[in-house]
Amino acid sequence: MDYKEYIKIVEDWPKEGIQFKDITPLMENGKAFKTAVDEIVTFAHKKDIDLVVGPEARGFIIGCPVSYALEVGFAPVRKEGKLPREVVKVDYGLEYGKNVLTIHKDAIKPGQRVLITDDLLATGGTIEATIQLVEALGGIVVGCAFLVELSYLNGSDKLEGYDVLTLTSF
Ligand code: AMP
Repeated sequence: MDYKEYIKIVEDWPKEGIQFKDITPLMENGKAFKTAVDEIVTFAHKKDIDLVVGPEARGFIIGCPVSYALEVGFAPVRKEGKLPREVVKVDYGLEYGKNVLTIHKDAIKPGQRVLITDDLLATGGTIEATIQLVEALGGIVVGCAFLVELSYLNGSDKLEGYDVLTLTSF
């Protein structure tokens, strides 16, 4: 499948100079969305995954159907102040801004095998922060899966040593 057919490029959004890749047309197309989720499930299948983890908000959209198909749980990574119980947190930089990400302290048990999902790999800051959270809780990151990679931002440099799947790249 040519996923690029379902990704709309929006110039100068949310800030001037950013070329935003809008994946909502892909999500809105049942066949394209199922094909994408199925590819990630196939990638994950032999990894003996215990838990899927995804950063808000588009990491939820990809991660939840994958966790359902794998019959494992999903743990959300959220911005500061959004999770109601005790969290661990990490600061990181974005392609356009700064952020703090958190996860519930009891979301992952030491030794659990974790798949991380997000819609898009840009600078890699979000995924690097998510990996730090998982590993701080003793989880083992056995794979990272994305619909889209912006290869010109070299985010995959931050993922050296991890098993990474990207379905399409710009
Ligand atoms: P990064 O931390 O730079 O890898 O950014 C990844 C996160 O920011 C992902 O969750 C994306 O949803 C979002 N993002 C960053 N840059 C873009 C872009 N150019 N188009 C669409 N989403 C983006």
